[in-house]
Amino acid sequence: MGKINIYHLYPAHLNLYGDRGNMLALCRRANWRDIEVNIVPVGPGKEIAFTSCDLLFMGGGQDSDQKLVAEDLKRRHREIQKAVQENMVIFAVCGSYQLLGHYYTTARGERIGGLDIVDLYTDAGRGRLIGNAVISCSLWDPPRTLTGFENHGGRTFLGPGVQPLGTVLYGFGNNGADKTEGAVYKNIIGTYLHGSLLPKNPWLTDHLLRKALAFRHQDTALRDLDDSLEEQAHQAAVNLAARRTHK
Ligand code: GLN
Repeated sequence: MGKINIYHLYPAHLNLYGDRGNMLALCRRANWRDIEVNIVPVGPGKEIAFTSCDLLFMGGGQDSDQKLVAEDLKRRHREIQKAVQENMVIFAVCGSYQLLGHYYTTARGERIGGLDIVDLYTDAGRGRLIGNAVISCSLWDPPRTLTGFENHGGRTFLGPGVQPLGTVLYGFGNNGADKTEGAVYKNIIGTYLHGSLLPKNPWLTDHLLRKALAFRHQDTALRDLDDSLEEQAHQAAVNLAARRTHK
């Protein structure tokens, strides 16, 4: 039986459009395989060492909340950077995905400094990019689709050495222009997809669980589950995105 420690960073500040559902999906799919999950909520100012963290999760947030947590996040830079180099898993959605990069400039022109760990930057553009999205994700061969809901004013651009999480099939993705969505760097996955994302993309949930187990050299074999309901939910969301895009 395995055990995974998940640190949930700033749950009271970064939690939009059902991001918390990602934690529920990780827990459930682990528990169904008799893997124990320990979730540690980490608020601003909480003194906590990252040495026992296997997977760090951060959700999305409004500009004001991003600003609130950014200083606290930067204070943890050295520790998180070290853990990232050791291949700790990070899964970050939207507002916190932006904060993994160099900076996020809001629509009001305020620059919020990021963790500077992933080579990307974000500038607010004209109007918000809102709707259901589908991407083709090459974490798998052949690629699989991921679907979620996006709502962001920021346009994110990736530097060299950072791979996009996927290619946009429907929706906007990182910036609405270059068809990239999200970012992968070491064991970090950043994405604009909310929704919650993980319940209706169970293959991504399992990917994160395997990476988190591997981090502390635990058995990464995951028993197959009956995913027929999850697959139906996935397909329904894909259909919705396709329909909206073609209207
Ligand atoms: N405030 C950020 C933006 O608008 C992130 C929004 C979010 O997390 N949904 O770009």
